[in-house]
Amino acid sequence: MLEIKNLTKKYDSKVAVDNLSLKVEAGQICAFIGHNGAGKTTTLKAIAGIIEFDEGEILVDGINIASSPIEAKQKMAYLPDNPDLYEHLKGIDYLNFIANVYKVGKEDRQKSIEEYAKRLEIYNNLKAPISSYSHGMKQKLALVSALIHKPKLLLLDEPFVGLDPISSHEFKEIMNEFVKNGSAIFYSTHVLEVAEKICTHVAIIKQGKLITHGEMKKVRGLKSLESLFLELENE
Ligand code: ATP
Repeated sequence: MLEIKNLTKKYDSKVAVDNLSLKVEAGQICAFIGHNGAGKTTTLKAIAGIIEFDEGEILVDGINIASSPIEAKQKMAYLPDNPDLYEHLKGIDYLNFIANVYKVGKEDRQKSIEEYAKRLEIYNNLKAPISSYSHGMKQKLALVSALIHKPKLLLLDEPFVGLDPISSHEFKEIMNEFVKNGSAIFYSTHVLEVAEKICTHVAIIKQGKLITHGEMKKVRGLKSLESLFLELENE
């Protein structure tokens, strides 16, 4: 579903992502972990088609993000770590706007909005302006907006930050349902205990270079993900 081949991204002379290659197949939830400044957000933005990159190729369900950006973007959803929402809109208007962008029909969007907004406990707030939302409520709205068009690839930057425990639990269930239905999820996180429990795969990035990638159980062996991460960071 996602294939990154030899991705390199520089900011002036600073190499933020260095010759990174990885695949995330349908049915997989892959955690992307690394220290602050390791290159996670840069990689996610490159996949999402938000920033240009210097070298390499990114395919989303076989479609090249650089040469066919609209087609590739239709297949995915990207949730940034601090989503910028249109604060003057009501929650429901924002969701309808996103559904329009992705050309989701009336019935399908109503069904998705109702289901996910109710499960993430934001449904009763949809008629209020986004400017009146708390940080966690904005995060929930952004998550619902990412799910409306049932993307084949979900790219999430720290999706659990700001969520209360009930919504966090519910979102994990939703992630599992998505991959069971043939999607793939690639998400960055610093919460290793959660990643260890919910992810089928893990990719670890250090100073822009991918240092480990594979099945969660195989990569960590008998160690916790935290112990493995600390070991690799100290090498
Ligand atoms: P964090 O865990 O703190 O969110 P990250 O792994 O997402 O970090 P990135 O945001 O991808 O890291 O940053 C990778 C490197 O690129 C860092 O050294 C950062 O300073 C640099 N960088 C990121 N964005 C820019 C930019 N717009 N201009 C210049 N340098 C940048």
